[in-house]
Amino acid sequence: MRYPLIEGVPDALVIHCADPRFQTAFRQFVREGLGVRMPMVLALPGVTSHFGMQAMLPKNWYALKVSIQTMTSRHDVARVILINHDDCKGYAKIAGHLGGLSKIGVAQKKHLHGLAEFVRKEFLPNAQFELYQAHIVGSEVEFEKIL
Ligand SMILES: [Zn+2]
Repeated sequence: MRYPLIEGVPDALVIHCADPRFQTAFRQFVREGLGVRMPMVLALPGVTSHFGMQAMLPKNWYALKVSIQTMTSRHDVARVILINHDDCKGYAKIAGHLGGLSKIGVAQKKHLHGLAEFVRKEFLPNAQFELYQAHIVGSEVEFEKIL
């Protein structure tokens, strides 16, 4: 069995959580919903929480930063897509630092904007940034654009 090797130039940097429940939805949304042909995907648990917790968990933040730097130095993509999601276990783990479970939504939004601003300043000043929150609706996933 062989699988396709896709040659070409990536058209977006996509950063989202590694939660296995959301991977199919993320992939479909990025391809079909946003029209990205060749995404550079960075998926890791809690994703934007590493930006928000950089003072307390500097190693996680460093690892995320270096990965973004490596990817963006190879490809100066025009689009950056950042996605958080409901019921994130990575965020649940740090809820104590955010003021409780009820504060997670606000923190996710804040970190989404913060990480976007950081990537824009440090690595991709000319890119277009698109921020989303993936909501669980019954047994499906719906994406809300975050402004
Ligand atoms: Zn998550």
